[in-house]
Amino acid sequence: MPNIFFVKFILVFIGFYGLILFLNLYILMNKILPNTFRQCFLFVASFLSVISGFSQSNDLYCKQVDDIARLEMRAAERKMMAQYLKKTAADLIDVVYYRCDWNIDPAVAQISGTVTSYFTAKSTINQITFDLKSNMVVDKVFQGGWELSFTHVDDKITINLPETLRPTMLDSVTIKYSGTPISSGFGSFVKTTHEGVPVIWTLSEPYGAMDWWPCKNGLDDKVDSIDIYITCPKAYKGISNGIRQSETFSTNGTETRTTHWKHRYPMVSYLVCLAVTNYVEFNDSVKLGNKQLPMQTFCYPESYDLFRNNTQSTLDAMLLFHYTFGDYPFIKEKYGHTQFSWGGGEEHQTNSFVINPGESLCAHELAHQWFGDKITCGSWVDIWLNEGFATHLASMFMENKYPDSATVWRKNEINRITDDPTGSVKVDDTTNVNRIFSYRLSYLKGSHLLYMLRFKLGTEMFLKAARAYQNDEDVAHGFAKTADLKRVFEKTSGVALDSFLRQWYEGQGHPSYDVQWSQIGNTTVRIQMNQTTSHSSVPFFEMPVALKFKNGSQEKTIVVDCKTNGQVFTEQIGFIADTVLIDPEFWLISRNNKSTKQDLVAPNTLNLLVFPNPFEASVTVQIQNFNSPFVDVIIYNMVGQTVFAKQYDLYQGHGYFQIPSSTWASGKYWLKTINQDGTENVISLLKK
Ligand SMILES: [Zn+2]
Repeated sequence: MPNIFFVKFILVFIGFYGLILFLNLYILMNKILPNTFRQCFLFVASFLSVISGFSQSNDLYCKQVDDIARLEMRAAERKMMAQYLKKTAADLIDVVYYRCDWNIDPAVAQISGTVTSYFTAKSTINQITFDLKSNMVVDKVFQGGWELSFTHVDDKITINLPETLRPTMLDSVTIKYSGTPISSGFGSFVKTTHEGVPVIWTLSEPYGAMDWWPCKNGLDDKVDSIDIYITCPKAYKGISNGIRQSETFSTNGTETRTTHWKHRYPMVSYLVCLAVTNYVEFNDSVKLGNKQLPMQTFCYPESYDLFRNNTQSTLDAMLLFHYTFGDYPFIKEKYGHTQFSWGGGEEHQTNSFVINPGESLCAHELAHQWFGDKITCGSWVDIWLNEGFATHLASMFMENKYPDSATVWRKNEINRITDDPTGSVKVDDTTNVNRIFSYRLSYLKGSHLLYMLRFKLGTEMFLKAARAYQNDEDVAHGFAKTADLKRVFEKTSGVALDSFLRQWYEGQGHPSYDVQWSQIGNTTVRIQMNQTTSHSSVPFFEMPVALKFKNGSQEKTIVVDCKTNGQVFTEQIGFIADTVLIDPEFWLISRNNKSTKQDLVAPNTLNLLVFPNPFEASVTVQIQNFNSPFVDVIIYNMVGQTVFAKQYDLYQGHGYFQIPSSTWASGKYWLKTINQDGTENVISLLKK
């Protein structure tokens, strides 16, 4: 509809300049009345957005109002760790919008530019702060045409506002800065080369966004939308988040290319990205429902064939995740890959940076778009909500594609997790980047926590709860902590997860199972599940455990729900087994498991077994090889009173009964059995 667009453009154009004229007259006449100025400023901001994005202005303004309400609801959850607070801007404002203009020459390890931040006050304030490393140089801070005073110490820019802002009032500042960023973490701002060609790329997670641009650096505020303009020598391309709006070229001295990227979903600062080199580009798409989602790849020229030949796997993963966990979170825009030289990947929103198009790596980074980007961990303590899920989803994709390898992979991962008997999924030192991103704990143990949750709830219920979590209004396009996951999974499944998360999220180590079992008759097994643990923080892991009984021609897998140590189960398997495999499909984190088959009695030997002894709430009687079709069981107390009497049928001389005993007094008892022919057996018992 080009005509309508054109008319709209003309109207907006006239409206914009009309408003500027009106504003100038108004300001001159009224000597800039403060509150009026604020209102005018808001209108200017809105119209500027219209010019840049056609009809984005109302969206932006309405969205920031919605977000104030939404973010206020989350205010109680924003208690960051003390050391972490030191690293982040004071939580006085909600950022609404960033406009970043960056100049980069990948041959020079520098960045210069301006960042304009729109924000709303959360309380009455006359100062605001942004995070930017002190080695960077802030040239000036301004608002409209007016320079503002500021200080830049201890990695914070503190800006004095020209007047006090009341809660919910919208304002903006522009920071002009430059410098040579000092890279932190995994390489927050890196200049290097590929095939002799310079490249600059960023990877800001966890704390490194403030190394190279002024922002709110924390896990407590997502900007609602962002426009990024990257100007670089014309030979290179500047890549960032969202949709490429335009490329413009300039020949002012040197020939430059300016690329405008636009993203209109909430995004945390560490996911804002930048990469500049001589990228080649190719485009694919994938049909998601009735939407044809673009998939855009930027890779080094020397890697073109590699990427070109391996993109389909990511499109397959997109289909799996979209239909399993809910719509691709940024479905109105695109997904993409940008090659960089760090030895892995980073899930920049809508544009993952990857070293190569490895299918597991790319599935992992794609999975982060749901778990990490749409829902971001609300504290580095809970990084497993990003990495455990992404690892798990990549495993789901790979297991789907290569089902024959699934158990081998799981077994190897469990071996790696349990190589060390200590360590929790919960991060116990967020000042240590290596601990936050511990592959063994945050990735693998986090992923296997989810395997165990799947095993406990069943895969269907697990996926239903995961979808509910994705759609939960308190965390979708915001932040989540483990308590949020617990709340949603408990509500969806009806299963309490307190002890599960206490053991597997907070607790360290793993169980070792010692399964002692006996065949009873031709079809039944008695199983005693003993357990030791590798770390004292968890004396006992409550978990369902799968046991596969088998002989040369038959097998059956049963699941016993272990609630206490030494718990005894009697299960029908339907045949005489010679072997049991513990957790045969490797769902559980455990190690050094063993099983022992115990022959209770030699064949054809009479046997009467009563256990446990001493007993509490119930006592179990096991009979083998009695020469009788039935048996009378009588239990006497110490003064000779009968407390229990019942006749049981026996099957080929075998029987197995559980007798409730919770109401009996503590003390000594005698149990007597009487066969059809009057043969008696007596055993003494003790009630605790
Ligand atoms: Zn990851």
